[in-house]
Amino acid sequence: MGKKRKSGGRSKGSSGHSGTVQCSRCGRVVPADKAKKYTKRVSAVEPQLARELRQQGSYIQTRRVTSYYCVSCAVHAGRVHIRASSERKSV
Ligand SMILES: [Zn+2]
Repeated sequence: MGKKRKSGGRSKGSSGHSGTVQCSRCGRVVPADKAKKYTKRVSAVEPQLARELRQQGSYIQTRRVTSYYCVSCAVHAGRVHIRASSERKSV
């Protein structure tokens, strides 16, 4: 059977087994090197209030939230796009 992608959609290369993570959206268990990792900064303060406080010169602490998406969810959420076969094949 032909290969759709040279890497099989993964980034582990020749290294062996990689750990698993759970998709933050659907809960599916995916290999860590295959999952799409997103980090965003989340503030506990509402944006409008945060803007006012920032204008007054105060520092608002944010925390970093890391989420992993499985390929299906990443495509559905528009984080990654499907490419044409001529574009993706580089074998
Ligand atoms: Zn998912």
